[in-house]
Amino acid sequence: EALAPAKMVKAIRVHELGGPEALKWEDVEIGEPGEGEIRVKNKAIGVNFIDVYFRKGVYKAQSMPFTPGMEAVGEVIAVGPGLTGRNIGDIVAYAGNPMGSYAEEQILPAKKVVPVPSSISPVIAASVMLKGMTTQFLVRRCFKVEPGHTILVHAAAGGVGSLLCQWAHALGATVIGTVSSKEKAAQAKDDGCHHVINYKEEDFVLRVNEITSGRGVNVVYDSVGKDTFQGSLACLKTRGYMVSFGQSSGTPDPLPLSALAPKALFLTRPSLMLYTETRDELLETAGEVFANIASGVLRVRVNHTYPLSEAAQAHADLESRKTSGSIVLIP
Ligand code: NDP
Repeated sequence: EALAPAKMVKAIRVHELGGPEALKWEDVEIGEPGEGEIRVKNKAIGVNFIDVYFRKGVYKAQSMPFTPGMEAVGEVIAVGPGLTGRNIGDIVAYAGNPMGSYAEEQILPAKKVVPVPSSISPVIAASVMLKGMTTQFLVRRCFKVEPGHTILVHAAAGGVGSLLCQWAHALGATVIGTVSSKEKAAQAKDDGCHHVINYKEEDFVLRVNEITSGRGVNVVYDSVGKDTFQGSLACLKTRGYMVSFGQSSGTPDPLPLSALAPKALFLTRPSLMLYTETRDELLETAGEVFANIASGVLRVRVNHTYPLSEAAQAHADLESRKTSGSIVLIP
């Protein structure tokens, strides 16, 4: 029997780790979905800082070459044998493993995708699957934000930061955000930050101390890492929570356990993957994000869109701190 010719699609591939120029626009072969799998034609692809870590080798990809990307929304165009509950034409979203969303089409395990409500556009959904679900686990599960809490959010105008400030504000917290420019400060204010600190111009530890009258904050959500980590610990009140969930400026220096002792601090280094391990967790987390968009608690800022072929430019802009809100690639 003659084999059908392999189907080719366009995708971004990394052959050698490096700068944004490592992202190459190429033809790749795509197969048919196997058992439990679907083939999805992507409509919108979210860009996340984690994509930069993989491109540079801060996190190791499982194989080389690889297609980066951990978030997309698309239409189901083929369904694997025996699979029920997924139909051709369904609009679905996913975030996390497997990597490979920077592509016109991809094969995904059906259990990894969630249906997108028809009221939410693919571009909006692709901007909040990874960042919005991260926000959900950060403010609702990792540390539960409550009325009366004062919280510190670094990179408050970023993709996650924008959603985090809005959600925490809605939960009744006093939100202090850090940003690197005037424009980002204005956005952070608009997203519900009660106090915004430009950490390029001001010492954020001193400012937090002033704002809280020396009491410190209940929790720091720190995704900047190396440049802010020590200062973040200094901003915490007694028995405060240090949530170190990223390293946009580099990996923080190692910390002796004894550094937590003077204030009896808590420290965690969480990941979305481990907070959406089960199908129920995934559906609940995504469901809460979509509900918060529908009710207006979250206004999604899609501040940058690029053609998929220009992913390298998106990475260059993200890494040089030029972007705010979410970045989406359009195939
Ligand atoms: P952002 O849109 O937040 O972009 C990163 C921002 O970090 C920049 O805009 C910049 O804001 C700030 N920043 C500070 N120092 C640097 C630096 N040296 N280089 C680059 N940026 C810097 O990205 P995302 O929303 O995609 O992700 C935010 C963070 O959250 C990342 O660290 C990411 O790894 C982490 N994350 C972790 C998850 C987890 O499960 N643990 C899941 C999702 C995201 P400014 O200019 O205002 O300083």
